[in-house]
Amino acid sequence: MIPYGRQDISEDDIRAVEAVLRSDFLTQGPAIPAFETAIATRTGAAHAVAVNSATSGLHIACMALDLGPGDLLWTVPNTFVASANVGLYCGADVDFVDIDPQTYLMCPKALGAKLDAAKRAGRLPKVLIPVHFAGQTADMAAIGALARAHGVRVIEDASHSIGASYQGAPVGGCAHSDITVFSFHPVKIITTAEGGCATTNDADLARRMVLGRSHGVTRDAAQMQDAGDQGGWYYEQISLGYNYRMTDIQAALGLSQLDRLDDFIARRHVLARRYDQLLAGLDVVRPVQSPDGHSALHLYPVQVQNRARVFAALRADGIGVNVHYIPVHTHPFWRARGFDWGAFPVSEGFYHRAISLPLHTRLTEVEQDQVVTALTRALTA
Ligand SMILES: *Cc1c(COP(=O)(O)O)cnc(C)c1O
Repeated sequence: MIPYGRQDISEDDIRAVEAVLRSDFLTQGPAIPAFETAIATRTGAAHAVAVNSATSGLHIACMALDLGPGDLLWTVPNTFVASANVGLYCGADVDFVDIDPQTYLMCPKALGAKLDAAKRAGRLPKVLIPVHFAGQTADMAAIGALARAHGVRVIEDASHSIGASYQGAPVGGCAHSDITVFSFHPVKIITTAEGGCATTNDADLARRMVLGRSHGVTRDAAQMQDAGDQGGWYYEQISLGYNYRMTDIQAALGLSQLDRLDDFIARRHVLARRYDQLLAGLDVVRPVQSPDGHSALHLYPVQVQNRARVFAALRADGIGVNVHYIPVHTHPFWRARGFDWGAFPVSEGFYHRAISLPLHTRLTEVEQDQVVTALTRALTA
């Protein structure tokens, strides 16, 4: 089976992990701050907080923004369930903003209309999470401006898009948001096996996220209430936090992978351009690349007629296609919370026709030709 996505591990990556295993610290050692510094440098953000998953990163980001019971979080239906679940982790309510039919990203027009209605109803969201679907950046200039005008805080779910840029600046620099969160799951752009990182330019949000990732405990005397007459053993819990820490083994892998990020993205662009050419004559809708940014190209989603039949034919031919995403609000869990089919028609329409073709750095041109041959056969069957 040709997988839709997979990791790319080099001998250098393996040596980096091995070096940690032979060192004094497997966790809470020097690899974590080194990785965080590298992410901050790469993205241009002032602060980076490494965590054990993007889900954890989104959760501590919401906590840092004081999302709680009675508050509202909005995200898009066209995402992985984690982008919405983190609102419920905080006891907040969750609602959705539909996507743009061309880019499959949060639609600024739909957002504007929904914000106006929410303002009239007296129930504006506290936190908005646009998702950089497939590695392409949402229209952050428009989304950020709307959010600012309504006093809404913004977390970018950049799980698909480390290494991408938007209007000339790296994603993660938070030019139009409070916090950006990356995922390093093996199918994403770079990997730490499991892992994630939150970036921000706000020192207080970074401080709160560091507490959220490790039990709400601090060893920083400046943050303590009773530091004065205590000894060297002393630490204080000053808020509620979790154990969301990344290990040094993971951070070392991430640091090594980060060296290869530009090569990874360049390779994804070569393969995507090749798909664009090979699919040009077929009855498929190819993904549109916005001139506003440079995508990380996590996914290559196409839209086809008779999706179920085409999907089954491709899988039968050994092509590991996938579907991104089942609209979050249509899962049984969310329908039990009052949502239903029909609520976000653009996300639903895209879902009914979407297939993600294999796209990863180790995909060969021969394999890519196999994908296209199988797709051509499936479409004309
Ligand atoms: C993968 C993913 C997540 C969750 O990432 P983890 O690191 O697995 O927790 C969240 N949002 C989106 C859009 C994702 O693709």
